Amino acid sequence: MASHIVGYPRMGPKRELKFALESFWDGKSTAEDLQKVATDLRCSIWKQMADAGTKYIPSNTFAYYDQVLDTTAMVGAVPARYNWNGGEIGFDTYFSMARGNATIGAMEMTKWFDTNYHFIVPELSAETKFSYASHKAVSEYKEAKALGVETVPVLVGPVSYLLLSKPAKGAEKSFSCLSLLGSLLPVYKEVIAELKAAGASWIQFDEPTLVMDLDAEKLSAFTDAYSQLESTLSGLNVVVETYFADVSAEAYKTLTSLKGVTGFGFDLNRGAKTLDLIKSGFPSGKYLFAGIVDGRNIWANDLASSLETLTALEGIVGKDKLVVSTSCSLLHTAVDLVNETKFDQELKSWMAFAAQKVLEVNALAKALAGQKDEAFFSANAAALASRKSSPRVTNEAVQKAATAVRGSDHRRATNVSSRLDAQQKKLNLPILPTTTIGSFPQTIELRRVRREYKAKKISEADYVEAIKKEILKVVKLQEELDIDVLVHGEPERNDMVEYFGEQLSGFAFSVNGWVQSYGSRCVKPPIIYGDVSRPKAMTVFWSSMAQSMTTRPMKGMLTGPVTILNWSFVRDDQPRFETCYQIALAIKDEVEDLEKAGITVIQIDEAALREGVPLRKSEQAFYLDWAVHSFRITSCGVQDTTQIHTHMCYSNFNDIIHSIIDMDADVITIENSRSDEKLLSVFREGVKYGAGIGPGVYDIHSPRIPSTEEIADRVNKMLAVLETNILWVNPDCGLKTRKYAEVKPALTAMVSAAKLLRKEL
Ligand code: GLN
Ligand code: ZN
Repeated sequence: MASHIVGYPRMGPKRELKFALESFWDGKSTAEDLQKVATDLRCSIWKQMADAGTKYIPSNTFAYYDQVLDTTAMVGAVPARYNWNGGEIGFDTYFSMARGNATIGAMEMTKWFDTNYHFIVPELSAETKFSYASHKAVSEYKEAKALGVETVPVLVGPVSYLLLSKPAKGAEKSFSCLSLLGSLLPVYKEVIAELKAAGASWIQFDEPTLVMDLDAEKLSAFTDAYSQLESTLSGLNVVVETYFADVSAEAYKTLTSLKGVTGFGFDLNRGAKTLDLIKSGFPSGKYLFAGIVDGRNIWANDLASSLETLTALEGIVGKDKLVVSTSCSLLHTAVDLVNETKFDQELKSWMAFAAQKVLEVNALAKALAGQKDEAFFSANAAALASRKSSPRVTNEAVQKAATAVRGSDHRRATNVSSRLDAQQKKLNLPILPTTTIGSFPQTIELRRVRREYKAKKISEADYVEAIKKEILKVVKLQEELDIDVLVHGEPERNDMVEYFGEQLSGFAFSVNGWVQSYGSRCVKPPIIYGDVSRPKAMTVFWSSMAQSMTTRPMKGMLTGPVTILNWSFVRDDQPRFETCYQIALAIKDEVEDLEKAGITVIQIDEAALREGVPLRKSEQAFYLDWAVHSFRITSCGVQDTTQIHTHMCYSNFNDIIHSIIDMDADVITIENSRSDEKLLSVFREGVKYGAGIGPGVYDIHSPRIPSTEEIADRVNKMLAVLETNILWVNPDCGLKTRKYAEVKPALTAMVSAAKLLRKEL
């Protein structure tokens, strides 16, 4: 019987690591205090996996900040500006790279594949000299061993490490990170040799880039790398893990022919083709790590169906070569259901967080070995059956409506330029109209009011009064600043998805279901368990109140269906698009209620549309199709004179520009502050764009206050490629995380830049 876990969350069941890190960073505790918390967490995780009977327990999947940064430390690839003097890399250098210090900024961070986890991007150049500079993988292995737990040390594979790196600023144009493979591998060899000497019998290399669309050169880098490592790896068992999608036929061939490798891990939950590939031929004598327990959600596994799949796989690879595993590291799911005090028993029985997934993996492995825990399996079957038939899950009317929209298209009756004309007649805005993205600073006082209302410590009347006061303050401020299209500031919202989820049916909220986003930051995604519907209007009360305070247009502010979907744990018993259409119909009703209440500008945020784009090109068109369709469903029913805005949190949309145009919003505001050039190049290349567009004119992620001149300068650059009458002037995202002391001068500069340019035009 063999079970394996690809990786495990580090934060702890109650975010112990987060609090320890933040207290250390604030100088409130010592390095030893932090290390003690980390040691305890690792120890309890290993023990828990061992107690569950796990055969292959991972080590080195803990990280103080990020596993890719750990790898950068391991190979000594510290960018010169951090003034590292060689020697073992300690907290100082490590956290400086992660978060910056008093004098130098942090290294860049980017999304880990299509998850919400962010890693620190290695910066490499021809000058990079690798050296073995962090022995963490070995010390973790030894630490577990001392506790009596034999583990599989996990390393980010050398090829994925290079493919995830970026050329350092100033590197030659022709420089490719992959060209450093030859100088990187000697460090990996040292690490492997040391692990071997310490007694390791298995090593795991995570090579998730194998699920991407790779050209022949990149694929051959894998062949090269593992051939070069072969002699060092001899005497060890080696598993190469892939996850987050299936691998292409070519990648499968490359992977399964790697020298020195004895096992291969596949994600059996994402991507439809892995099973076929394995059936079409699996190298004899090698291990298959079958990732059947989904590491990307919080749902209980369908154990009976998994057992069937595993039994079929056993027939192909052989009984002693099949290892039951998770689809990817459990880093991407919540930690432990035990700490969920608010779910009722039924809902809880449908779920499995990381700790429960470890039990599932082991239950499956035991069943394969002929020691099926009948009670465990029948409890699982009963839970699944209750989920299937529960009236909380199914709402016939919603199902019908969502199925009905799928087959037909949804578009506004008139094209965008006539709509803009009709809207202008009504709104009468100046050219280069100014607006903001929605939220205004969330003060401590404001958070306190919301918290106390939630805890029923203050009455509804007092709460409404407090929020009303805040809205009035924000409205008056915007009028003083002379902004053209106002917002109410979103003071009643804690989070742009949670706020809607809490008012829609079909959503549940955990108490401790945190997932690491980056560093010490965690998010608590809502859980969509049932058909989604809107019992009553969600924002009309606040938006109408705000509109009544001003004669200027007040934007209604909604979160779009795709963003609600992408930032939640989504039910796995129907296709994602089905759930998305349901949310779209609920938001559509809200849009129309806002219109009826006299709101003439409505913003439907799709901050997360971009990040849902599948990793593999072959799947992207389908996603974009239903995602964009869902957005259009929300807005197709309004009159020409109602102006629909959308907002997106990225500028990197050159590859999906046609889908964005196809959303058919009247105005789109986008985050842009760090990459004008990239965005403008789309339009320079002649993409036809007729709707309103507001590329953010300053970066709200930084406390820096922009000057009027620099904003005017940037708008001028945009005017060179965009028509004057479609350009809007706005910050690049919501102002929620900023202080009023920053927001006031920044918006003042923004409005004066717009006025300055209007005079010149
Ligand atoms: N309307 C939201 C806000 O301003 C948008 C936030 C976002 O794009 N992430 O806060
Ligand atoms: Zn944004």
